[in-house]
Amino acid sequence: MPVSPQTVDGVDKRGRQTGSDRPLSYREVVHEPHGTDDLAGAVIGIVGAGTMGAGIAQVALEAGHEVVLYDVDDQALETGVERVRVGLGRRAAKLELDADSIDDWVDGRLANLRTAVTLDAVAAAADIAIEAALEDLDLKRTIFGALDREAPPDAILATNTSALSVAAIAVATSRPEHVLGLHFFNPAPLMPLVEVVRGPETDADSVKRAVALMERWGKSPAVAEDAPGFIVNRVNRPFTLEALAMVEAREATILEIDAALRSAGYPMGPFELMDLTGIDVTLAATRGIHQGFVARNDPLADRFLPSAMQERLVEEGRLGRKAGAGFYTYDAGVAEKSAAETPDPATRDRIVQRIELAIVNEAYRARDEGVAGEDDIDRALRLGAGHPAGPFERWTERGGPATIRDRLLAYADLGPRFLPAPGLSDGPV
Ligand code: NAD
Repeated sequence: MPVSPQTVDGVDKRGRQTGSDRPLSYREVVHEPHGTDDLAGAVIGIVGAGTMGAGIAQVALEAGHEVVLYDVDDQALETGVERVRVGLGRRAAKLELDADSIDDWVDGRLANLRTAVTLDAVAAAADIAIEAALEDLDLKRTIFGALDREAPPDAILATNTSALSVAAIAVATSRPEHVLGLHFFNPAPLMPLVEVVRGPETDADSVKRAVALMERWGKSPAVAEDAPGFIVNRVNRPFTLEALAMVEAREATILEIDAALRSAGYPMGPFELMDLTGIDVTLAATRGIHQGFVARNDPLADRFLPSAMQERLVEEGRLGRKAGAGFYTYDAGVAEKSAAETPDPATRDRIVQRIELAIVNEAYRARDEGVAGEDDIDRALRLGAGHPAGPFERWTERGGPATIRDRLLAYADLGPRFLPAPGLSDGPV
């Protein structure tokens, strides 16, 4: 019998004491010798019990934590708890336990899940609160303001935002040094990558504590600065934008591009990916990143301009798989494709190379701007976007910066997005 999670209405305060310009790479963070392990027995507060909140709760419960889950919507909270229960059951089924032991395993973890009926209750209970409510800056600021008022002063307040600035959220608190991003990928129980996002005021100790916690949860953290799109959403943006540009210019078809990328080892092509993610979601992320670079007065901000094709499909309600139609049409969730359009080898190589070049150029820009180190970028692209190799490791094999720069220059007529990143000119040529 599954154990129902306890509901603690108004969780008590627990009587505890409340009390380099270059980004730290993941390696530097984890090799710091002290101050990283204090969240081992932490109570985890989670705000928002939707797709991400429930997934993160499951991960924390699997790691043996006590979890306090809150949602403004009672029904969503109930659904979230059920989702956690089902998720734990799925995990247990993979543990090679007998049927009774599976129930015991799930019940044992669910016993550590409590729901709260107020935000204050989560704040008062949590050593670290992870917010996974809607992607809305005002809403997140309201939540962080409330968490800040009630949480112990040393508690970390984390946001799972995909695209908002951590700094813009942290201004709603009196402790920006303890505010950071913990950007999990969907589905959180399965995806190993977590981007640990350091705002301009986040202190190194909070980053270390968060990195150590993610490691203990079996995740692979990549430390990123608080810049638009962090690592994956930014560096992988050309995967979709360059593909869209090729189709708009009639240089290749949707089917050819998807087939080319799949044959190069990517789990799916850009159009299949956009249909799965939701074209509206992809468009919103692209817009957010574009606006972020415009706000930073980046002279090349328009390399992130959304494509007219994305905009048109969203206007028409063709949002992808969830709407039954996007770049493909779907029958019972299965794409209806005409006979596979496999490009000839030369076309295939041209498609793949152009997309991979745009990605590696963006990777150099992110590295040069101090968003993250090469290792973290490579790992983030492999684990967060399913790339068969990270951009730096791939192009090191192909000849490194000199090769990249020469090939980018060959695409100069496509516009400034193929202008080699400054760091590509610095290296040995
Ligand atoms: P969702 O819509 O599934 O869940 C959001 C939940 O937040 C809902 O249950 C809603 O009732 C609740 N909520 C709304 N206002 C609230 C409030 N004031 N207090 C508490 N709960 C509130 O959304 P999601 O997909 O889980 O996304 C949550 C966050 O995670 C967003 O910021 C999103 O950008 C980010 N994110 C999503 C994904 C993804 O693929 N879904 C991946 C990474 C990050």
